[in-house]
Amino acid sequence: MEQLTALGTGYAVATRCYTTCFTISDGNEHFMIDTGGGSGVLTNLEKLGISVAQVHHIFLSHRHTDHILGAVWMLRMIGHSMEKGQYQGQLHLYCHQSIAEGLVEMCRFMLPDRLLKLFGTQILFHCLSDGLTFEILGRKTTFFDTRSKKTLQYGVSIQLKKGKQFTYLGDEPYRPDCADYAAQVDYLMHEAMCLESQEEQYHPHRIQHSTVKDTAQCAAQLQVGSLILHHTEDKNLAQRKAAYTAEAQQYFTGTVYVPDDLETIML
Ligand SMILES: [Zn+2]
Repeated sequence: MEQLTALGTGYAVATRCYTTCFTISDGNEHFMIDTGGGSGVLTNLEKLGISVAQVHHIFLSHRHTDHILGAVWMLRMIGHSMEKGQYQGQLHLYCHQSIAEGLVEMCRFMLPDRLLKLFGTQILFHCLSDGLTFEILGRKTTFFDTRSKKTLQYGVSIQLKKGKQFTYLGDEPYRPDCADYAAQVDYLMHEAMCLESQEEQYHPHRIQHSTVKDTAQCAAQLQVGSLILHHTEDKNLAQRKAAYTAEAQQYFTGTVYVPDDLETIML
């Protein structure tokens, strides 16, 4: 059975939890989806007892700081593991060509030459186009353009074992162009910045984000089985799970998950 482990559940400027990063795992192998905004990815991997040597696939949805900067740290640590002979096989990164180019440029600036030599041989980029499918951890995995209104962004839809479907829409609201990937899926992972009552405080709609109510109504219309909320404000983390779940359940009758950092959901 697969599991989703949240490494970072906060919105872009969260300081009380880590930013967007999670894994879909099968046993000891972990497909990392977004890497958060810094070395917190390493902190949380360590807390979870996951070695970087257990991560051979990483997807980067878009080029914003809170999703991509952790990748520099992952590349640094995986590169070191490769040099020491502690990392078996190759690392595969999945992202749009523009992100690959930007990330390589950052690595050229920040990482030693000996690690850069691993690019193209042991560290491989797979440049995405809309609808491109790979087999990752033995599961059919399709990447798609989420039609973001801010910057080019990709989502991912994974066919889980037992025929279930999991879809991640990145950090912007669902757009109807993505219906093929989001409608009636078993698990939809969708951003929700704050409660409806906090709209005036955070103004999610001004920056292409959603309230919990918006997201729950969307999930109901899409008739998904379960809704997983992430990319939230971080001012009331102790109450977040209860408050967000309660609001979502007013509009959506399926299962609602509001994971905390380091929490695992069995899919
Ligand atoms: Zn974000």
